[in-house]
Amino acid sequence: MKKKLIAGNWKMNGSLAANELLIRHLLSGLGEPSCDVAVCVPFVYLAQCQGLLAGSAIALGAQDISCHDAGAYTGEIAPAMLKEFGLRYAIVGHSERRQYHGESDETVALKAQKALGCGMTPIVCVGETLSEREAGKTEEVVKRQLAAVIHANGHCISEVVVAYEPVWAIGTGLSATAEQAQHVHAVLRAQLKAATPHADRIKLLYGGSMNAVNASELLAQPDIDGGLIGGAALKAQDFLTIIAAAISC
Ligand code: PEP
Repeated sequence: MKKKLIAGNWKMNGSLAANELLIRHLLSGLGEPSCDVAVCVPFVYLAQCQGLLAGSAIALGAQDISCHDAGAYTGEIAPAMLKEFGLRYAIVGHSERRQYHGESDETVALKAQKALGCGMTPIVCVGETLSEREAGKTEEVVKRQLAAVIHANGHCISEVVVAYEPVWAIGTGLSATAEQAQHVHAVLRAQLKAATPHADRIKLLYGGSMNAVNASELLAQPDIDGGLIGGAALKAQDFLTIIAAAISC
């Protein structure tokens, strides 16, 4: 059976002192988990977290990646620079990047390609807004977002992780129900199956107010292979509880 993946997205949170406390707490409670665990931290803390996580079961990820390799792109961080910090994952296309930084489906697809090209696994986020859901456009939106990534990445698509993150559920405390999430995951799985014979091994994460209470039910769904966790990833005990739920599913 495929190992589940629990990835924390710290977003723009943390400090040197708080990160150290959080990671030490996680490491002391984690042991040797039988699922994959990662934390995606702000760029400026990559070196610190790389040191704290060295030799541990927690992989390191970034929250974004440039779609350029080098040059006059002030403020951007190149794929090869990230790789130097031992990164395993890079989130691409988070709805906050799409919304506040105008990232298009094509830019997100290119970012996924750049991550793969450097040996990192992109965690590709897709998800509909509340108005899109209310207009009955959920499937159309997530399929369009995923299609761009499939188109740009060819047979490498089997190496990505996809995170279904309904925008209305992110940071709101209002998670999708297990049925709603499973329905969209099944749609995404079918789309991936049409693109690659290896679709079953692609991890499909759910993200959007997953927490210590609702994780078990969400993670028990047949097409939910893990979680992308925002707020609850900043509380060591909650994150550990979600990891335990993933292991027991
Ligand atoms: C996220 O930022 O990817 C996320 C899922 O956030 P939250 O868990 O806080 O909703």
